[in-house]
Amino acid sequence: MTDYNHSEIEKKWQKKWEGDRVFETKEQQGKEKYYCLVMLPYPSGNLHMGHVRNYVIGDVFARFHKMKGKNILHPIGWDAFGLPAENAAIKNKIHPAKWTKQNIARMREQLKILGISYDWNREFATCTPEYYRWNQWFFIKMWERGLIFRKRANVNWCPSCNTVLANEQVLKGLCWRCDSRTQQRDLEQWFIKITDYADELLEEHKQLRGWPEQVLSMQKDWIGKSFGMEIEFAVTGTGKKLKIFTTRPDTLFGATFIVVAPEHKIIDEMKSQIANYNEIEKYVIESGGKSNIERSSCKEKNGIRFEGINALNPATGKEIPIFTADYVLADYGAGAIMAVPAHDQRDWEFAKRYNIPVIEVIKSSNSCDGNQSDDKDVSEAEGVLVNSRQFNGIKSSEAFDIISEWVEKQGFGKKTTIFKLKDWLISRRRYWGTPIPMIHCKTCGTVPVPEKDLPVLLPEDTEFTGEGESPLKSSKTFVNVKCPKCGMDAKRETDTMDTFVDSSWYYARYCDNRNDNAVFDSAKVNYWMPVNQYIGGIEHACMHLIYSRFWYKVMRDLCIVKPGEPFENLLTQGMVTLNGSVMSKSKGNIVSPDEIIEKYGADTARLFTLFAAPPQKQLDWSMEGVEGCLRFTNRIWRLFDVVHTKTEITASEKDKNDILKIMHQAIKKVTVDIEKEFKFNTAISSVMELVNALYTYKYHSNDGGTSIEVYKTVILLMVPFTPHLCEEIWEKLGYKEYVSAYPWPAFDENVMKQYSVELPVQINGKLRGKIIVSAEDGEDEVKKIIEKDEKIASQLKGRQIAKFIYVKGKIVTIFVK
Ligand SMILES: [Zn+2]
Ligand SMILES: [Zn+2]
Repeated sequence: MTDYNHSEIEKKWQKKWEGDRVFETKEQQGKEKYYCLVMLPYPSGNLHMGHVRNYVIGDVFARFHKMKGKNILHPIGWDAFGLPAENAAIKNKIHPAKWTKQNIARMREQLKILGISYDWNREFATCTPEYYRWNQWFFIKMWERGLIFRKRANVNWCPSCNTVLANEQVLKGLCWRCDSRTQQRDLEQWFIKITDYADELLEEHKQLRGWPEQVLSMQKDWIGKSFGMEIEFAVTGTGKKLKIFTTRPDTLFGATFIVVAPEHKIIDEMKSQIANYNEIEKYVIESGGKSNIERSSCKEKNGIRFEGINALNPATGKEIPIFTADYVLADYGAGAIMAVPAHDQRDWEFAKRYNIPVIEVIKSSNSCDGNQSDDKDVSEAEGVLVNSRQFNGIKSSEAFDIISEWVEKQGFGKKTTIFKLKDWLISRRRYWGTPIPMIHCKTCGTVPVPEKDLPVLLPEDTEFTGEGESPLKSSKTFVNVKCPKCGMDAKRETDTMDTFVDSSWYYARYCDNRNDNAVFDSAKVNYWMPVNQYIGGIEHACMHLIYSRFWYKVMRDLCIVKPGEPFENLLTQGMVTLNGSVMSKSKGNIVSPDEIIEKYGADTARLFTLFAAPPQKQLDWSMEGVEGCLRFTNRIWRLFDVVHTKTEITASEKDKNDILKIMHQAIKKVTVDIEKEFKFNTAISSVMELVNALYTYKYHSNDGGTSIEVYKTVILLMVPFTPHLCEEIWEKLGYKEYVSAYPWPAFDENVMKQYSVELPVQINGKLRGKIIVSAEDGEDEVKKIIEKDEKIASQLKGRQIAKFIYVKGKIVTIFVK
C-alpha cells in the first residue's frame, strides 16, 4: 500500500459524499430519527478552533447514530445579522450584506474541508428575506396575542456600539461585545413578555434530564422566582401609602426603615413634603448613570433619608424613616423594601451606618443570651419569634404563613410571587437586523403590517454613519408609508430586532427550510423535533437557551409545534486554549485550523480535538498531541499491510479468541462512551489498544479471517472520528458501499465472558484482589497477569512466594513468607 496521503484522500471522499448525497435527509415515517444540532454560528469570516471542536463533536454524534441505523438530521446555517457586519460597513464602506456573504462563502469552504456530515441542502442565513420575513410574522402573531408591548424605558446603551443592550448583554457594567462602559438612557422600546412564561420555564426544567446541572441552576438563578408579600406602609402626614416587597413577612415587626429605589415615583409625588428634596434629586441623578449590576454589587451601601416624612410600620404602629438608596432596584419587586437589620446583613450594615435601631424578632434556637444588644451580629438563622406581640413564641419556619395570613386579614398586604426575569427588550437602533413590521399612524396609532405585505425589506439606500439614530431613518423609501388601516400618510417603525430572535426558532426552520408559504410545515417539524442532541458553549446558558425555550412554547401556543421542550440533551463543550489561555486574536495565540488541516489533514485535526480532552472540559492545544494523533492515523493505515502479511504460524482457537475478546471490549467501550458518557477520548484509547493488539498478533493470514474481521472493526469504530481515512481503507478492503452508511458493529457480551474469567486472588488466606484471565490461561500466564496487577503485586513486593496454587478458572491461592 502507498503512503498515507491525507490531502488527496480527504478531497476525494468529500467530493464523493457530496456527489452521492450521502448525508442528505428527509422524513421517513417508521424509522427512528435523530436530530443533532450545533449552535448557529456567526459568520465572522474565519473558523477558529472553538468552532472546529464544536462541529467535530456534533459530527461524532451524527455519524455514530447514522451507523446505528437512525434517520439523521444534521444541519448547519448562519446567524447572519448583527453588529460586526454593520461596523465593517461603517469602517470599510462595504455593504453588510456583501461582507456577510463573503464570510459565509469562506466559512462554508472551511467547514467542508473538515468533512462534517452536514446536509447542505438545509443551509440558510438568517439575514435573507426568506428567513427574516418569518421573524416579522412571529412578531405580529405575538402582538396579536398581547405578548409584544412598547414603553419608554431606562435602557443600557453602549456608546461605542451605538446600540441598546439587554440587561444580560451588560457584564459588570461593560458591553458584552466591545467591553465599553455602558450608560443608561431613557428611550421608547419594544418588549416581548417573556415573563408570562417565567413559571413554565422553571417548571419544565423537570423535563431536561439530559442537560448539565450547571446550566439548569444558572437558568434558575436568572429566572429568580421568589415568594413573598406586598405590604403597604402609610406615609405620615400625606394620606398616601407606600408599597414594599418582602420575602420575609415573618420579620415584619423588626422592620425599622424603608428603602426605595432612586427611580421610585414617591420621590416626585411627595416633592413638596420632602424637606431635603434638592439633595435627594442630586443623588437620583448620580445613580442614574450606574448599571443595575454596579448598583447591586457595590460594597458600600449608601443612601439618603427623606426629611419631613416617615412611614408607619403597620404591625407595630411605630414611625420609621424612609431612605432612597441605589442598591434597591426599580424593577425588582415594588422598587421598595422594608429593612430588617437584625436579620439581614445588608440592612444591618446600612442601619449601623445611619444609626437606625436594630430590633431582634427571631431568637435563634441555639442562642442562650436573652439580652437584646445593638452590637450583636445579624442572624439569618431560624428560631422562635420575639418582640412580635401575639406571634411571640411561634417557630420562624411557620411564621411566614401565619403572619402573611394575618396581614391579608388586616388588609394591608397580599401574598405574591416575583421573578428576577425581565421582559425581553428586543428593539435595536441598528440597520443589520430584522425590521420591526409596525407602522405608526397619527390617527390609528401603532398598526402591524398586514401579513400579505411581508416581508418588510431592509432598504438599500441607507447611510452608515455610526451615529446614534437608527440608520433606517435615513431611508426615505423606507420610512414613508400609507397606513394599512386608514390609508393616510404614516411612518414605519425604524428599529430592528435583537439578533437573538433569529436564533430562537432556527432549529424548527431547518426541518423545512425552503418553505415559502408558511414558517414551516408542522408535520415535518413534529417529525424531527425535539433536537436529540444540542451542542454549544456554556456562555449561552441564560440568553439563547432561555429565549429559544420560550419561543418554542409560544409556537406551541400558536399550535404549530407539539408541546414539550426543544432540546432534549445538551452538551456544553469546553474552551480551546493554548498554554492555558483562551485563543484570541488580540493575544496573538491563535492556532489556525486551515494550517493544521493543510499540514496534518482533517482526520488528524479531528482526532486530536476529540482525543486531547473530554468534550465538556477545557482543551489545551499541543502540537506534540497533534503529531501523536498523526502517528496513530498512520498506524491504522499501515495495519492494512500488516493484516495481509503472509505467515507460516497457524493461530490456535485461543489466539483467535483472545483478540476477538479485545475487539468486543473495544466495541462496547466505544459504543457506550459515545452514546451515554460523551467520553470520546477514552473511546479512542480503546481503539488504540485494539490496534496495538493487532500489531502484536502473529497469525494474520493463517487464522481463517479473524484478523481481517478485527481490522474491519477498527475501521468501523473510527468512522465518527476519522471518516476519510476509514472510507479509503474500506474501499481497499473491497467494499462498494460507503463505510459512513455501514451498520455500526455490535458487541457480544458472551464472547467477552465466554473466554474470560474473573479470578479471586488470596494471599495467606485473605482475599487481596481479583484479576481477569482468559479461560484457557495456564499458571504461567496467570502469574504474568498478577505481576502486572498493581494492587496485588504491591502486596507481594519483597516477599518470597512459598506456594502458588492455581485452580483453573476458579481461584489463585498464594502463600508468602
Ligand atoms: Zn459595545
Ligand atoms: Zn391610520
